[in-house]
Amino acid sequence: MTDRYDPQAIEAKWQDVWRAERAFNVPNPGSGGAAAEKTYVLEMLPYPSGELHMGHVRNYMLGEVVTHFRRRHGYQVLRPMGFDSFGLPSENAAIQQGAHPRVVTERNIAAIRAQMERLGWAIDWDRVLATHEPAYYRWTQWLFLKFFEHGHVYRKQVAVKWCPNDQTVLANEQVIDGHCERCGAEVEARRGRSAS
Ligand SMILES: [Zn+2]
Repeated sequence: MTDRYDPQAIEAKWQDVWRAERAFNVPNPGSGGAAAEKTYVLEMLPYPSGELHMGHVRNYMLGEVVTHFRRRHGYQVLRPMGFDSFGLPSENAAIQQGAHPRVVTERNIAAIRAQMERLGWAIDWDRVLATHEPAYYRWTQWLFLKFFEHGHVYRKQVAVKWCPNDQTVLANEQVIDGHCERCGAEVEARRGRSAS
């Protein structure tokens, strides 16, 4: 016996217990479970363009603290998770990693989820979504069509900021002193079509 803390053994052991006991899973109303007061913790969803770094750990640890604080005060805490996996960061990650965006995205999601589980965060993994999944984006497309049907969508010519290296339009926030924040190339103004 030694009193040295062994995270590989101790944390993995209790994380297995929490998983088996479904400690952080929250049932839907009316499907049994404790009649505790309900509360909801949702953080921004990570981009799965790589693996988690310490900036992510800081971010989600704050939600972790809120979650456990409320649990200790008797609340049933619903804390879902998801992945902001549809769009430019995923496309750039796929280009950098040299594979199809879906392959790269799903590989990164699996790696990030493993990191989150290894950190022992109190997440209900029955309640996870990824925005590149058709089951998710069918609803954003449905909303877009509703906006279109009601006259809130139109086309007009505007000047856009274009990165010749990444071959993409950039948001104003992605341009730093006239250069692309991702690759540093000088950004061009181009006239293009833009839905707004
Ligand atoms: Zn660029």
